[in-house]
Amino acid sequence: MAAFEISVNGKPRFVEEDVKAITIVADRVPDLTLGGEIEKVYLHVGIGEAGEYQYLGGDLRPGDEISIRVLTDDEIPTGTTSFPTSCSFCGSDHFHISSLTGGPQVAICDGCLQVFHAVIIQGARLPLGASIRDQGPDQCDFCHKAPPEVPGLLVRNSAAICPECLRACLDLITEQ
Ligand SMILES: [Zn+2]
Ligand SMILES: [Zn+2]
Repeated sequence: MAAFEISVNGKPRFVEEDVKAITIVADRVPDLTLGGEIEKVYLHVGIGEAGEYQYLGGDLRPGDEISIRVLTDDEIPTGTTSFPTSCSFCGSDHFHISSLTGGPQVAICDGCLQVFHAVIIQGARLPLGASIRDQGPDQCDFCHKAPPEVPGLLVRNSAAICPECLRACLDLITEQ
């Protein structure tokens, strides 16, 4: 099966077989730091069965160039998948969750998305081992922004996500 290599500004993000859809979306999201709205551009790749794996890069900027290359069989790296197969926040593997959203190094499952969303929106209690950090040096693993550029980070198992990326991930899984 053909594999696709997706690069941003000449730097490969990942190589995957079984790519179902590649979407680039501009979305206006609430700017939780300064108020109002900001525009974010997301690169979204659906992999495997519908909703199974989603890659989401929220760090695209004007001028960025995305290239997609179809690889020949002998260019495909053997035995390695660049996509995480378990949730970086709770460790659940993909056999126990319905969807995993993430990038090459980090992924979040639907369960963690719901729990973190409840923390932010309803002030629910943080899950065991999780914390909210509003100071560096941590940065969001999805958009690579750090406080104070984002209002805070939800951190668990040394994986971090900001509220904007959390919302974008939730939007993705509820669209399915
Ligand atoms: Zn999880
Ligand atoms: Zn983020």
